[in-house]
Amino acid sequence: MNLTDWHRTARSLSLGNRAVIGGRQVEARSGQGFASVNPATGETLAEVAAGDAEDIDAAVASARNSFESGAWSRRAPVERKKVLLRLAELMRAELTELAAMESVDMGKLVRHAAGNDIPAAINILQWHAEEADKVYDEMAPLPEGNAALIRRVPLGVVGAVVPWNFPLNMAIWKCAPALAAGNSVVLKPAEQSPFTALRLAQLALDAGLPEGVLNVVPGFGETAGQALGRHMDVDCLAFTGSTAVGRLFLKYAGESNMKQVWLECGGKSPVIVFPDCGDLEAAADQVSSGIFYNQGQVCSASSRLLVHQSIEKTFIDLLLKRLPAYQPGDPLDPKSGLGAMVEAKHASNVMRFIDEGRREATLVAGGKAVTVGGKGSFIEPTIFADVKPDSTIARDEIFGPVLSVIRFSEEDEAIRIANDSIYGLAASVFTDDLSRAHRVSARLTAGVVAVNVVDPVSPAVPFGGFKQSGSGRDLSRHAIEKYTALKTTWIRYRC
Ligand code: NAP
Ligand code: MG
Repeated sequence: MNLTDWHRTARSLSLGNRAVIGGRQVEARSGQGFASVNPATGETLAEVAAGDAEDIDAAVASARNSFESGAWSRRAPVERKKVLLRLAELMRAELTELAAMESVDMGKLVRHAAGNDIPAAINILQWHAEEADKVYDEMAPLPEGNAALIRRVPLGVVGAVVPWNFPLNMAIWKCAPALAAGNSVVLKPAEQSPFTALRLAQLALDAGLPEGVLNVVPGFGETAGQALGRHMDVDCLAFTGSTAVGRLFLKYAGESNMKQVWLECGGKSPVIVFPDCGDLEAAADQVSSGIFYNQGQVCSASSRLLVHQSIEKTFIDLLLKRLPAYQPGDPLDPKSGLGAMVEAKHASNVMRFIDEGRREATLVAGGKAVTVGGKGSFIEPTIFADVKPDSTIARDEIFGPVLSVIRFSEEDEAIRIANDSIYGLAASVFTDDLSRAHRVSARLTAGVVAVNVVDPVSPAVPFGGFKQSGSGRDLSRHAIEKYTALKTTWIRYRC
């Protein structure tokens, strides 16, 4: 599709703006709403219901009722699989609209939404749907006369609170395994990006998911998010977002019903490029997409480049050659290189880090906030060199298109710098030396280490971090562990 087609699709979108609770579209009980804005144009897309504690209460009650009814939780796994696969098909049929929705809602390049993000979300849903009837239980090796069944059972009501950077993906990463396991869900999307989650709830009903099994309540974090985190009848809370807010969910759980809390939080992921890297061009491609994809608003963005001093200049030159392909433009134009920042407030935060960077390092490229066609919040792809490992731009998560280049001379030094972070989400190593690849990977404290590639994602591979990047893992067979508990049943029988 070309620019004109995408603009036509975007104009004709029908954007759901009410919460979906118990299978019905409802206004917030308070009657309040908030404006959802397209950050590329500043235009208001819709007034969306601002859910609060009362709406969360209603959603949790409806989730609990549906869970207790057994309409989903006790449905044969193969039937759950069929419904979720049907949902995936409905989403595939609407791929274009979902991509346009995501693009206008949070500024993402439509070519990435249509070519990558939305198809990935659908594949992940399909993967977990297929898993629904492939989870086996265990029996313990006990003396004759005893049997103990060890079963994985759904927890009940799962709360999910997700961010705006990959709105539909983050919703699917939580909902798909939780639903496949038989739970009922209350999802709160980020206030900046509610539309694809609301559409998901509607499509799930069309696919045959019973009413009340997937409830979506848009609203603010401090109100709706907090109410979900503190709810006494929510069994598990799955969160993706900032480390600061992740910490709050631990507190909410401690001060309420000790619900299980699973966190996917921030990162400051290092990429280490060694002089024995056999293909510096390919490495430069990976590093630039690793920091500029989605305007750097990626938890696992490769925001720290650790490069060996002998190849530093060469490598920075290779990165500079790639910058023309990452210039800001209309997110609906398939030729644009970089989309809009999610909102003006976030763009100002990123600009404050860039100002700090100008004081503590050398600005090599970019560094300016710009508009496109006189509108919107955009930031140029930005590279700082001579960055000291203890400076702000080397330590804090910026969540923007800003790369900090740090030079090193020894392997041990690179590992030390890479691990010297409160985060431990992802890390990459570029080398052609097999022993070095294994040695360094083993010593990096990160949930996802990648060799000769940056930020690979597959539904079959776990994703998540160490340290203040979080707990638990999304994706893969391990995701379902978070949404189930082991239940043992002892049986004494006569021999
Ligand atoms: P955020 O501010 O932490 O928000 C995430 C979610 O939490 C939103 O739905 C937000 O609601 C809600 N929230 C905010 N304050 C809350 C509160 N006091 N109580 C309860 N809920 C609250 O994060 P973001 O700015 O949307 O996303 C960026 C962050 O997400 C980055 O730190 C990034 O690293 C992280 N992230 C991590 C991963 C991962 O897998 N590790 C993936 C993607 C993003 P509202 O926005 O509606 O107020
Ligand atoms: Mg928006």
